[in-house]
Amino acid sequence: MNKDIEPMADKTSAQTHVAIVGAGIAGLATAYYLQTKAKAANLSLSYTLVEKAPEFGGKVITNTTGGFLIEGGPDSFISQKPWARELCLELGLKDRLIGTNDAKRKTFIVHKGKLKALPDGVMLIIPTRFVPFALSTLISPLGKLRMAMDLFIPARKGDEDESLSSFIRRRLGKEALDKIAEPLMAGIYVADPENLSLQSTFPRFITMEKKYGSLTRGMLSQMKARAAAQKAGTLPPPLPLFMTLRGGLTELVTTLVDRLQGELLTSVGVDRLEPPTEGQDRYQLHLSNGETRAADAVVLATPAPATAHLLEPLVPDVADQLRKIRYLSTATLSLAFKRSDISHPLNGFGFVVPKSEPCRLMACTWVSTKFDHRAPEDHVLLRVFVGGYKHQELVELSDDELTKLVRDELKAIMGITAEPTRKEIYRWPHGNAQYDVGHLDRITQIEAQTAQALPGLFLTGSSFRGVGLPDCIHQASQVVEQIIQANFSLG
Ligand SMILES: Cc1cc2nc3c(=O)[nH]c(=O)nc-3n(C[C@H](O)[C@H](O)[C@H](O)COP(=O)(O)OP(=O)(O)OC[C@H]3O[C@@H](n4cnc5c(N)ncnc54)[C@H](O)[C@@H]3O)c2cc1C
Repeated sequence: MNKDIEPMADKTSAQTHVAIVGAGIAGLATAYYLQTKAKAANLSLSYTLVEKAPEFGGKVITNTTGGFLIEGGPDSFISQKPWARELCLELGLKDRLIGTNDAKRKTFIVHKGKLKALPDGVMLIIPTRFVPFALSTLISPLGKLRMAMDLFIPARKGDEDESLSSFIRRRLGKEALDKIAEPLMAGIYVADPENLSLQSTFPRFITMEKKYGSLTRGMLSQMKARAAAQKAGTLPPPLPLFMTLRGGLTELVTTLVDRLQGELLTSVGVDRLEPPTEGQDRYQLHLSNGETRAADAVVLATPAPATAHLLEPLVPDVADQLRKIRYLSTATLSLAFKRSDISHPLNGFGFVVPKSEPCRLMACTWVSTKFDHRAPEDHVLLRVFVGGYKHQELVELSDDELTKLVRDELKAIMGITAEPTRKEIYRWPHGNAQYDVGHLDRITQIEAQTAQALPGLFLTGSSFRGVGLPDCIHQASQVVEQIIQANFSLG
């Protein structure tokens, strides 16, 4: 396709210049794909990437001091969505990729103040192995019977969005929702499943229900097909479910930045945008350092509230819609301990906390079990998540108060009384976009209105079509395709 792209008649004389606002993973990937796709198609295209923070990477922050590797934001990406891994491979990071230690994979759920293992074979929330599930004491016999009803309950008719809670209650029952789905999903999306849009987060479940009439049948059938393809050699061996880079996710950021050849600005925000007018055929970006940049196309890779602020004077309706995307606050507290001080075996990837439990933590990752190269041999590293929809107020606590609360909870749940040897806190006020029921319709409307009112202006990033790193990277690549289509006609 690239070879067929020709510059449009009115663009032949001048280079097309693109401004990208925000250099989290979405903005960085947009810049990278603009550069590589334009080069591959021999298009005359340049770009400016503007980031208001002093560092690139947005929520991707890795701290490597004292032999520890501590992630402040994301710690890995899911490999089932291929785009983050593919980008790492394209960047030559193949040898730096590491997976989760899946032989030690086990997730615990806090139940009546104690840790209970999620039975082996539960995929996402769907049981796929009978014996471990039947033997587990996490779900009552009646609850298990209700989950098995999934095999017989007919599929829902209609295509309108529903909440994850409504879906799980309908197919697997209330106990599966309260004890498994709610804490796991709150851990992944930091969201209340009563509000969480199924269409925007688990479209796969909708397909399974429609195609197989049952989640269990759907999951088993997919696993069987995958195993057969692997045996026949038509599918590569399975990847670890989650992957990261040996040096932490910042390695992806620094590698991207090293490759970028456009104008890169940090500690400079975009304060105001002016659309093209009759006398001025380019967008004007007014920067916080008093300078301006002119651009033929603009990509706003900023969180929805920042995007709304920039669009308010231009398309107030779109700004209103963007402001309706809710955000929740979270914080992560990483604690290191001497291994000899911890009697708990840390025999899994960590635990999640259902809302019925009095414990005020959201989840805890046993980092040094989940990944190699995160702590010196004689230490262990834990990362606790607080905030989210259950206890947002905790993000406001002082460092000392937060540390005390977390240590009290870890003592009660895991018996940890030792002094931590290291502590790192990262707060993410209004940092987690919430995909409420109807999210996709809202986004479709926002995109259509923006395209109509402001041709050449594109929106991307975690507020829109996927919060995870792979989705942000995928959306960036799609936005670049749109920019190329809009600025260079197919010959
Ligand atoms: C604690 C935590 C853990 C997470 N864990 C995972 C995980 O394990 N795996 C996973 O896949 N995802 C995870 N996520 C989600 C993922 O990290 C984010 O969705 C993703 O990093 C967001 O990328 P982004 O580029 O859309 O936005 P951001 O990273 O927020 O970047 C937006 C950038 O825009 C800049 N900006 C804003 N306004 C302006 C302006 N006016 N001018 C210039 N620049 C501006 C900001 O400074 C920022 O750098 C996690 C998120 C959090 C908070």
